[in-house]
Order: sequence, then structure tokens, then C-alpha cells
Amino acid sequence: MLGPPGAGKGTQAEKLARARGVPRISTGDMLREAVQAGTPVGRAAKAVMDTGRLVGDDIMISIVRERLERRDTEEGFVLEGFPRTVAQAEALDTMVDDRAPLVVIDVEVPEETLVLRLSTRLICSSCGWTSTPGATMCARCGSPLVQRNDDNAEIVRERLRVYGRESQPLVDFYQRRRTFRSVDGDQPQDAVAADISAAVASALGGRQ
Ligand code: AMP
Repeated sequence: MLGPPGAGKGTQAEKLARARGVPRISTGDMLREAVQAGTPVGRAAKAVMDTGRLVGDDIMISIVRERLERRDTEEGFVLEGFPRTVAQAEALDTMVDDRAPLVVIDVEVPEETLVLRLSTRLICSSCGWTSTPGATMCARCGSPLVQRNDDNAEIVRERLRVYGRESQPLVDFYQRRRTFRSVDGDQPQDAVAADISAAVASALGGRQ
């Protein structure tokens, strides 16, 4: 699932994964967990994440390769936050070479909406879950909500710049594939979810 920061990829990936009974794999969540656990990858990633830039391709590719080797991905998976560069997309193609086709969903949202969403977004201080707008406590574990380190105005602008430079070219990379679909992410959550589900079904054709 492709899309800029704030497009709702996390929420939508979660819904799609639940609907299809496959794991959701979020590289942002995996990195935040590594940061919280204080692993070497987490320590290296934290400094980069706090600036809004991207963690190196080699680290990201090996994290995802290792994750996709786990058996729970055998029936499929929803990958979110990866790929973010053309080098990552090329590596992903080789990882899924012998699997069903890779469906690519690009969630499109205008920049003004992204800035507003990111500057008001809160996550759980304990489990990292992204909250729904207006919530005061985590819906998953009941802990207080906080702003993500990288959701402050200055870092948001940098993340959107990095997205335009590094990740926008992915649309060109995938656009001509028969399994590529664009979805309007600037609608109520359920409408976006319905469009994504229809897009996945049409991209997979007879191979559900
Ligand atoms: P996200 O939660 O997807 O917005 O990711 C938060 C931060 O984690 C990003 O701003 C990057 O610093 C880092 N990150 C997550 N996924 C990747 C990736 N595929 N490649 C490089 N950096 C990533």
C-alpha cells in the first residue's frame, strides 16, 4: 500500500488485513517497536526517524525480507510503509517473485489534508496504536495518547518533501502494471476501505 504520510495507510492496511485474514506488516511500526526495545536497529533508526528522513535501504530490505520469510505470510500479507524507494521496490519484486502477483494500491490525498491530519494525529504512548480523531485514550490498551515525535509541523514538512522526492517515483515504477490501482483517500474511512477492497478484488481478477 503506497501513499504519503497521513494518507491513512496504517488504518486502511489494518482493515484490509483483517478482512482478508492476512498479517499487516508496517515497517514504521516495526521500527518504532525496535526503538522502544532499544535494539541496535532501533537505536540507529531513531535518529533518522526523528528528522523525517528515510532509514537506509539495506536495513529496510533486510527487515522486510526476514519478516516475509515467516510462515504467517504464506497466504498473503498487507505491506504498508514499504517500499518507499525504487531500490526497495526492486528488492521487493525479487522477494515475491514466486508468489501470487503483487497488488499495488496508491492512496491519494491532497497535501493540505495530509498536513492537517498529521498535525492533529495522536498515538498511544504505550502500544503505539494510531488513535481515531477525537479520542483521548488508546482504543486498544486504554493508555494515554501522545503526538508522534515526527508529527510536529517542521518534521511533517520534511517527511512530505522526502515522500515527493523518494517515494513519488514509485508510482511511475508501478503505474503500468496490471495490478496497480489508485484510490481516493480523501473520503470517510469506510468509503476508502470499500474502494480499496474493490481495487484489490479487481486487481486480483479470478485469483482471489
Ligand atoms: P511511517 O510510520 O510509515 O510513517 O514511518 C515512520 C518513519 O520510519 C519514516 O519517516 C522513516 O524514517 C522510517 N521508515 C518506515 N518505513 C521505511 C522504509 N520503508 N524505508 C525507509 N524508512 C522507513
